[in-house]
Amino acid sequence: MTAVVSRSASPASALVCRNCGAEYPLGPQHACFECFGPLEIGYDPSALARVTRADVTAGPSSIWRYAGFLPVGQDPSTRVDSGTGMTPLIRADRLADELGFTAPVWVKDDSANPTHSFKDRVVSVAITAARELGFDRIACASTGNLANSVAAHAARTGMASIVFIPADLEPAKIVQTAVYGGTLVAVEGSYDDVNRLCSELAETDEFESTAFVNVNVRPYYAEGSKTLGFEVAEQLGWRLPAQYVAPMASGSMLTKIHKGFKELIGTGLVPSSPWRVFGAQSAGCSPIATAFAAGQDVVRPVRPTGIAKSLNIGNPADGPYALDAVRSTGGSMASVTDDEIRAGIALLARTTGVFAETAGGVTVAVLKKLAESGQLDTTAETVVFNTGDGLKTVDAVGAGVGPTAVIRPTVKGMREAGLL
Ligand SMILES: *Cc1c(COP(=O)(O)O)cnc(C)c1O
Ligand SMILES: [Zn+2]
Repeated sequence: MTAVVSRSASPASALVCRNCGAEYPLGPQHACFECFGPLEIGYDPSALARVTRADVTAGPSSIWRYAGFLPVGQDPSTRVDSGTGMTPLIRADRLADELGFTAPVWVKDDSANPTHSFKDRVVSVAITAARELGFDRIACASTGNLANSVAAHAARTGMASIVFIPADLEPAKIVQTAVYGGTLVAVEGSYDDVNRLCSELAETDEFESTAFVNVNVRPYYAEGSKTLGFEVAEQLGWRLPAQYVAPMASGSMLTKIHKGFKELIGTGLVPSSPWRVFGAQSAGCSPIATAFAAGQDVVRPVRPTGIAKSLNIGNPADGPYALDAVRSTGGSMASVTDDEIRAGIALLARTTGVFAETAGGVTVAVLKKLAESGQLDTTAETVVFNTGDGLKTVDAVGAGVGPTAVIRPTVKGMREAGLL
């Protein structure tokens, strides 16, 4: 009896301030009352240590096989399991060859998630937390992919949703949100304006029973990203890669993959081995990479431009923590132009058969840049995260990509086009 009870209890023990270490009871709170620093979920190490590889592999083929490392969803009946996770880890030998890698390069392809981006991971955990905490509506401020995922997960569970986006988002991302029903509010402003509005709304009485996935339940939301790190380790046969390259918007995902690796070592699920963390941004919005290059700890906000809209957060909440993960592991960061992003999308597509959205183009272009500059070790096993599907951002690559030839439906037509 006792074993069953402890197995289904949450391993989470408190909300912990990442800035000053103050602790608070678990619940819908995201900022420290002492210092206004961001809170994250703290765990009981002995609860995490009880998770075995067998527990994981006996679980569902989704992120919920890692429920033992998550703050919510220990009781399968409360989980929102949309089939998110266990996305392909593709060995990209042709990409590796082209970039001069002698060690394997792997692409973790999160475009295979239900709404075609990595955001399904964080939303699955956030909406499960929202239900366990008794909220009756979910909401978000989004650069696009989060909107898609929140609307879809709300539809699946029958929860009400209200989604806020910048009005100039890619048409595919607007359609892919609106189609699920729910309320979709297009705000005339940047993502940072949308985010500020949502922080204000979250304080109003009318939004008292609304969980903003990336505002008031953000500590829960952020934990969903750890599952990317867990899956990579499991898919490599329970070991860690020597280096990984991840895109950064707020910097949360990159940071949490790193946290996931540390938890796997702490619990003995993988042998201890060093890894280096590399961060990717676009030149149109590179506040974290710019701080890295300048050797600064403070991330100065910017006004985002450029085609990588899903990464366009000018004031990144987790910037300092991303800098810390990269610096403490001896990694690096870089940013790439819109032309390099398009070339990155094309390179990945033509060498691996994976069509990435602009964020994936950013990551592959940074992989190339850091390999060429010698900052990435081309003799070390490397994982690259593709976080979204190219069909979401076709306009970004559209101009240079089309038919090889347009012909009349005859053999002569083929000849005339020089194809015979
Ligand atoms: C949200 C997002 C990320 C990472 O965002 P963080 O805020 O840094 O966690 C990466 N790629 C895509 C496509 C995204 O939508
Ligand atoms: Zn604090």
